[in-house]
Amino acid sequence: MIISPDRFLADLEDLGRIGWVDGEGMDRPAFSPSYGIARKFVEDRMKDAGLAVTVDGVGNIFGTLDGSDPSLPAIYAGSHLDAVPGGGKYDGPLGVMAALEAARTIREKSLPLRHPLVVAGFTGEEGGEMGGTFGSRAFAGLLEEPMPAEKLARVGLTPEGVRSAKAGPGRIACYFELHIEQGPYLERRNISVGIPTGIVGISRYAVRLEGEANHAGTTPMKERRDAMREAAELLSEWFAWTDTRDDFVCNVGVFSLHPGAVAIVPGRADFLLEIRSLKDSVMDEIAAKFRSFLEKRKNVSIFMEPVVRKGAVELDPLLQTAVETACEEAKVSSVRMPSGASHDANPMARITRAGMIFVPSAGGISHSKEEYTAPEDLARGADILARAVLEADRRL
Ligand SMILES: [Zn+2]
Repeated sequence: MIISPDRFLADLEDLGRIGWVDGEGMDRPAFSPSYGIARKFVEDRMKDAGLAVTVDGVGNIFGTLDGSDPSLPAIYAGSHLDAVPGGGKYDGPLGVMAALEAARTIREKSLPLRHPLVVAGFTGEEGGEMGGTFGSRAFAGLLEEPMPAEKLARVGLTPEGVRSAKAGPGRIACYFELHIEQGPYLERRNISVGIPTGIVGISRYAVRLEGEANHAGTTPMKERRDAMREAAELLSEWFAWTDTRDDFVCNVGVFSLHPGAVAIVPGRADFLLEIRSLKDSVMDEIAAKFRSFLEKRKNVSIFMEPVVRKGAVELDPLLQTAVETACEEAKVSSVRMPSGASHDANPMARITRAGMIFVPSAGGISHSKEEYTAPEDLARGADILARAVLEADRRL
């Protein structure tokens, strides 16, 4: 390895203790006191490494290592420092601390670097009141106007501050993000590194089946317009069909019945249908297919409305090749694969070349205190990131 794995892992574990509650997992949402302590920890480590540190108007932190050619735009590498409630230690911080380790390695070993290297710690990736990837969307200038001043004030921000977080034009060469996979793909195949080709888009639809609420004791079975029964039949037919395809995934994670009493035939069933795919056209096709299944339910009135639409994102081919080359150089197995979860690389891909590196998640588990990646996988990922940064520096 070109990095110092012991130093990197020690820092990552130290950061992982900030906000950690035994038995509960991580308590480090953006804008919380523990988050502030974590950012200070990263800031101190950046300064120790000789990086020039800035914090922007939303709380993103950046540490810059100069390159040999000051006229070139910067290579950014990082991820987020906040965590979901009860989450793990590595979702986010891995990418920030690995980028820092890359900068330290390049500086200490005087490895040739033409572009400046900026280590980025984004805030508010995991959602909450401001929505997911908040810090990186602010940086990418993707937040919508008018800004919600009251909401921002509750976390100590101002619309002016948020606007000022937008990156200046032409100053970014590319963005790399190392992240735990959060799925079982790599572990099942016994492959060390995943190279995401894209980040799946997400479509969500509010679906409603409306029948008639009635007495559950006196209404004959054949005369019922039971919204629950219709929904159950619909979804069982639907999920039997979805198993025949592997270019999308779909989920019904929210489901409610009305009036919702044990002795009343449900008059209404509401649920959210979520579809994810690497191709926007597939998401649309699948939604149309679902509608055709829905329209077969003749005993109820039906409604289906889009509520969320986030397009799929392609990751940069040159950066994928840079990661692949880094893996070959380090004799580490790799595979190209989709990313089923959203990341800061998503907004970043809208303003620059973006590339990701995945390392295995034990059991595919994430957003849980059980999240785990073996130390050798963490260090290997950090080493590949450092090599990929150098490879991109040569190619861009
Ligand atoms: Zn994450």
